[in-house]
Amino acid sequence: MIQTVSILGVTGSIGQSTLKILQQHPDQYQLYAASAYSRMAELVDVIRNFSPKVVVVPQHQADHLQSLLKQSGLAVPEILTDEAGLIAISSANEVDVVMAAIVGAAGLLPTLAAVKAGKRVLLANKESLVMSGDIMMQAARDSGALLLPVDSEHNAIFQCLPQDYLSLEPSQGQPQKGVSQILLTASGGPFRQFNASELAKVTPEQACKHPNWSMGQKISVDSATLMNKGLELIEACHLFGLAEHFVTVVVHPQSIIHSMVQYVDGSTLAQLGNPDMCTPIAHALAWPTRLSTHVPALDVFAHAQLDFEQPDTEKFPCLNLARQAFRVGGTMPTILNAANEIAVEAFLKRQIGFTQIPQVVDATMQASLHSSADTLEQILQADHDARVVARQYLVN
Ligand code: NAD
Ligand code: MG
Repeated sequence: MIQTVSILGVTGSIGQSTLKILQQHPDQYQLYAASAYSRMAELVDVIRNFSPKVVVVPQHQADHLQSLLKQSGLAVPEILTDEAGLIAISSANEVDVVMAAIVGAAGLLPTLAAVKAGKRVLLANKESLVMSGDIMMQAARDSGALLLPVDSEHNAIFQCLPQDYLSLEPSQGQPQKGVSQILLTASGGPFRQFNASELAKVTPEQACKHPNWSMGQKISVDSATLMNKGLELIEACHLFGLAEHFVTVVVHPQSIIHSMVQYVDGSTLAQLGNPDMCTPIAHALAWPTRLSTHVPALDVFAHAQLDFEQPDTEKFPCLNLARQAFRVGGTMPTILNAANEIAVEAFLKRQIGFTQIPQVVDATMQASLHSSADTLEQILQADHDARVVARQYLVN
């Protein structure tokens, strides 16, 4: 039977890669709904090529979209707006699969709505799990949602774990089924070999040019500061029910091994492949079966050398800030994430320098009161308050 798909964030890098896979398998998947925040002309292209029944845009873009559609002579789909629209296409009865590919905290409520509605949820929006960890994991257990990681590292870990690992009840942060350790790989980003004074001078353009992956601006900057790896560490702890000391970050500059799982008998399993997000997207769409993609098989002879290094946490403090936030728990990961979103936005607008990003995050974490994160209200309040605090540190 054809599976119907909603893509939250269809105009983004992950959204576009998802469309590529749907286009290759029209007999198995159909786009039911899609959301976009800006770039209405690109959304019109999606409507032309995939004829979704529903689209979601911000209220202030709805008229613009209508007039673009009129000019193009295309049939107008149902147009919903804002967060209510996103929640509607995440939880609609007609939808089987939700690709959560909005960037940042804006993805929290729609992603959670998809999990609560028991969908197959392809999780790219790591920030939503960082913020709502226990609530989202519990919601998946309650609703029977399949929460499948699209982040390449977590998808790799998932592929290397025993098949039923995601459905296990958590065991107080202990690995189960003979697993002993997760090795979370990191490319090290474009500035891995920069010294401190070079780092202080890097520009948004340099930060957005990742050596191995082509991604949206925010995650590109996060990859350069290693905050992406920090957020992924928290993501891994929630997804796989682990205390943070069971996750070791390994810098692997070639991005060929996407992560590894070690077992008590001395085995280490790794997932390898060319760095293209279409592979983890196809895997999460079809699991436990497999879908063909355009991604070529790995030429191991062309990648004869694979290197591994320790991360430099002095030059890149964000990784330890994230570890610390997860250890503190409650709303602290939300505070970390909110401060980082504010700092990255300010860096992209050239209001602060690259090395100020961790400083803003650190200062915000120290100045913020954290609470337990038992309810969504506590999380949303912490997100709001941390943004106010972080903005105060943008002025030098
Ligand atoms: P992107 O910036 O390319 O796209 C983001 C999408 O979200 C766009 O469609 C945009 O319209 C929408 N959006 C932005 N702000 C919004 C808001 N306030 N409300 C509603 N929609 C909004 O980002 P991306 O690189 O595709 O990343 C998306 C998510 O996937 C992020 O959480 C990122 O961490 C994660 N991820 C991305 C990659 C990658 O290779 N790009 C890999 C792993 C995980
Ligand atoms: Mg990743």
